[in-house]
Amino acid sequence: MKLSEIYSTDKTIISFEVFPPKSEPESLLREINKLKKYNPAFISLTYGAGGNQNKSIDLLKDLKNTGFNVMPHFTCITSDKQKIENDIKNFEAEGIKNILALRGDIPEDKTFVCNDFCFANELVTFIKDKTNIDVGVAGYPEGHIECPDLKTDIENLKKKVDAGADAIFTQLFFVNDFFFDYVDRVRNAGITIPVIPGIMPVINKKQIDKIVSMANISVPEKLQKGLEKYKEKDLIEFGIEYAIEQCKDLIKKGAKGLHFFTLNKAYSVSKILDNIKGKI
Ligand code: FAD
Repeated sequence: MKLSEIYSTDKTIISFEVFPPKSEPESLLREINKLKKYNPAFISLTYGAGGNQNKSIDLLKDLKNTGFNVMPHFTCITSDKQKIENDIKNFEAEGIKNILALRGDIPEDKTFVCNDFCFANELVTFIKDKTNIDVGVAGYPEGHIECPDLKTDIENLKKKVDAGADAIFTQLFFVNDFFFDYVDRVRNAGITIPVIPGIMPVINKKQIDKIVSMANISVPEKLQKGLEKYKEKDLIEFGIEYAIEQCKDLIKKGAKGLHFFTLNKAYSVSKILDNIKGKI
């Protein structure tokens, strides 16, 4: 099913993000199969981080074969028109209905200059022109790290929406007010497509420290204290409780969906979904 159909109901839509594991895909497939009972509308599969693009394509097929509706992420900054056209046409031939269209991070090489695609809005235009696939795009409740201010951030988001994007998937956040303020700014800019919050249950302090150092993501005092106080299993349970509170508030205030960054693990997401079951 396409994003435009998926989010056309009043239900809270559940979806999961996974990434290609460094080792064999079996462990991921085992974990993700445990999440099947929550009827995710789709699984999104990250692309490119760590140079594992071929792995993403192989895994896409594995996930599709186990019956999931898969939304591949797809980046354009280091690619060219011909390759992108081949790839998206292959996706379409494989029965893919949705793509998360991204620019991708700029390579660290200082001499890098973008080629055919410099920004995600150009990729959205291209996918819409060449295929019949629905397109998701990234949104940043606290602003994209390169963007000078929140106003410009929304103006650039609007370019992706005007190019034909069907839904916005946000970067993770730990303070719901940033999400709600973002949705207000998005709507005030005349953007009407669904804005889907990205939820990451905390399982590891190091990982959170790394993510927040690379992006505009605020860590509130309550979370910071938990990150310092708890270790291993206790931290995972703390992360679950924290995410449950976030999810309940998001549902209560009308979020159209919850997109979970699973980190390829079923445990935390299962516990969260078991807890909020009656509310979705
Ligand atoms: P863009 O929308 O192009 O924005 C990039 C920057 O340029 C922003 O600062 C924006 O304000 C500015 N900008 C945008 N358009 C214009 C324009 N036309 N003119 C001038 N300035 C402009 N990365 C991966 O490598 N693989 C993944 O699988 C992946 N998955 C992600 C999933 C989600 C939900 C999110 C939120 C991010 C993901 N990313 C992934 C990270 C993403 O690639 C980076 O955040 C990247 O730096 C920006 O990508 P974008 O598509 O948001 O870019």
